[in-house]
Amino acid sequence: MEAQPTSSRSFADTLRSVISHAARLALDVALPTLCVACREPVAGVGVCAECWAKLSFIAPPFCPRLGIPFVYDPGPDLLSMEAIASRPAYQRARAAVRYDDVARTLVHALKYQDRPDLAPAMGRWMARAGEELLREADVLVPVPLHWRRGWSRRYNQSGALARAIGRHSGVPVVRDALRRIRPTRQQIGLSRPQRTANVQGAFRVLPEQSHQIAGRRVVLVDDVLTSGATTDACARALLRAKAAQVDVLVFARVVDTHKAPI
Ligand SMILES: [Zn+2]
Repeated sequence: MEAQPTSSRSFADTLRSVISHAARLALDVALPTLCVACREPVAGVGVCAECWAKLSFIAPPFCPRLGIPFVYDPGPDLLSMEAIASRPAYQRARAAVRYDDVARTLVHALKYQDRPDLAPAMGRWMARAGEELLREADVLVPVPLHWRRGWSRRYNQSGALARAIGRHSGVPVVRDALRRIRPTRQQIGLSRPQRTANVQGAFRVLPEQSHQIAGRRVVLVDDVLTSGATTDACARALLRAKAAQVDVLVFARVVDTHKAPI
């Protein structure tokens, strides 16, 4: 009986240690399984069923060149007004979803909140949206960050998406083909001509990488397509390096709902 106090103390210690271990385990399991958008518990990684339903997946009919969704089907091969007004350097663009609230939350979490674990799900949706482009593609090239931004954010979100798409489609990723050769301002808040000027000549295929691009059909990967200025500047750099064709695949694209289709 003299041993009782010691034994009960050690039992209490053991219990405490078990509880704290269990709590840690529960925390480890619970943290990655909260919905990124609404913070409700979710099975798997990413968004809950409710938030998933709020994502606007882009489906036909859409502009065969820019992938902009049409309100009604204008028939095959009819282009959107945007595609007719200013023809981009890239051939075609596709996006998984419209850039709205839930899409924005996902993009920001991937970009700024150190959540590369979201890339596989987002990449899977992109691989589906870009099936037509990926079937013909030789290589995937992510839009690069300037090295200073890459340093502060630790990883390139477009690179993470490209790797996920590569796993689904079997198309190889060329990571360092494209370089940002001068820092650019954030495109947010700039007008369309300012955006174009900001990124003009900012990208380049390094000569030692050009053999990976010349003669290849490239799918350029980015998280969001807004004005298309960045993707257009990247496409021009790839074409200068003799890419056979450049298509663009993004997670989300801004869709101007006020403009009528064609
Ligand atoms: Zn949710």
